[in-house]
Amino acid sequence: MAYLQFLGAAGTVTGSKHLINTSGDGTGRRGLQVLIDCGLFQGQKEWRLRNWNDIPVPAREIDAVVLTHAHLDHSGWIPRLFKEGFHGKVYATPPTIDLCGVVLPDSGHLQEEEARFHNRKGTSKHIPALPLYTLEEAQECLRFFEPVEFNETRQLSPEFSFRFVHAGHILGSSMVEAFLRQGASRHKYLFTGDIGRVPLKQAPGKVVHAGPAPQEDAEILVMESTYGNRVHPSQDVRAELAGLIQRTVRRGGSVVIPAFAVERTQKFLFLIKELMETNQIPHVPVFVDSPMAIKAVEIYLKYSSEFTEEARELIGRYGSPVKWRGFSFAATQEESKKINELHFPCIIVSSSGMVTGGRVLHHLMLRLPDPRNQVIFIGFQAPGTRGATIKAGARTVRIFSQEVEIRAQVAALEQFSDHADTEELLRWLKTFPRKPATTYLVHGESGAASLLQQAISSELGWNVRIAEWLEKVSLG
Ligand SMILES: [Zn+2]
Repeated sequence: MAYLQFLGAAGTVTGSKHLINTSGDGTGRRGLQVLIDCGLFQGQKEWRLRNWNDIPVPAREIDAVVLTHAHLDHSGWIPRLFKEGFHGKVYATPPTIDLCGVVLPDSGHLQEEEARFHNRKGTSKHIPALPLYTLEEAQECLRFFEPVEFNETRQLSPEFSFRFVHAGHILGSSMVEAFLRQGASRHKYLFTGDIGRVPLKQAPGKVVHAGPAPQEDAEILVMESTYGNRVHPSQDVRAELAGLIQRTVRRGGSVVIPAFAVERTQKFLFLIKELMETNQIPHVPVFVDSPMAIKAVEIYLKYSSEFTEEARELIGRYGSPVKWRGFSFAATQEESKKINELHFPCIIVSSSGMVTGGRVLHHLMLRLPDPRNQVIFIGFQAPGTRGATIKAGARTVRIFSQEVEIRAQVAALEQFSDHADTEELLRWLKTFPRKPATTYLVHGESGAASLLQQAISSELGWNVRIAEWLEKVSLG
């Protein structure tokens, strides 16, 4: 019997991995085994430790990975899968492949740095501490990525094919329509990956077209539920953001924005530029401190056809952020360190977005103890991450094995989200011509998933289940 098994993002928001096994066509041969997404577990230790566990199917017996988008919680375990013996292809849209070329080597670099740090400090149970994979290993696996355009059907075996459709989440992001042929019947399953904001609602500075493709139709729907328990504020974020920056500069402080280097940083830069050009905030220096940011900007500009009207207009007006006066991109460690020596107000945008690693750690370590400074979160903070701790109003946070006092101001602007909220998800589901037989909710904390489950079953009368880790579902 063909089946689907949830190997990640079940009961949590990270580690997306869904296995399709097409065996059971009656011929007795081994079926095709395809992983939809192959993400890294992030956040709480109990989840992160799973990055070190073997998956239930040997990696060498997996035939292909079909990747929805470049975020690490969907793509970050791919180099490890190769390390464990996978030798198939990774299928993704061309922008996703370009973004993975930046994101995956950076992830390898961070893994190596973390292992080096633990070895130096002797803070790991494992001697020596090892990286999950290295920068080089991440780079090596990129050769096996194969581009598939949106809406092109790709046949992987006589019984299995798939197609990418727009998810409107980040550049290149897709949902996967998976098709399984069994005898005379053909089945369709939909994996949403992450779902972008549904149009009609204010998503400030939205770079790529908003919204998932409407009127989907699938027997089984595997859907994300990150914001299954909330509605994003709908007022324009610009006034609030401008106010926060003005007040910080006035008291002689600096603003630190932990941001994903991909999408969120680009979006934020255009917003800051616009606020400066329209004199809503003072012209203070802006530092983009991420080795990936310049490369990510270049990739964004290459695919401007995927942009919203608003984003295209901004690019038309202001050109590439790399050339803006007063905006500096720190590519090297030395450039990054120089930012720490500055004592006048500035804006620092640095990754990682959930403060799980990267250069933002140094900036926060230095600036969190000073009440004049301001930290602004513009993205989701998974439970267990330092970002979630700081956002929740903790008095201290552990960075590089030290308790750092938090006296800086902390704010969170939820409008920047690239995920549809509950209302938007329901609006999208209402475009379906018929109910899926079963909808499985993944990629959400248990509270968010169960509230969304209730909302979908009461408003639409659908059969909805919350996927459990390692649970198997029969297909066909
Ligand atoms: Zn995502």
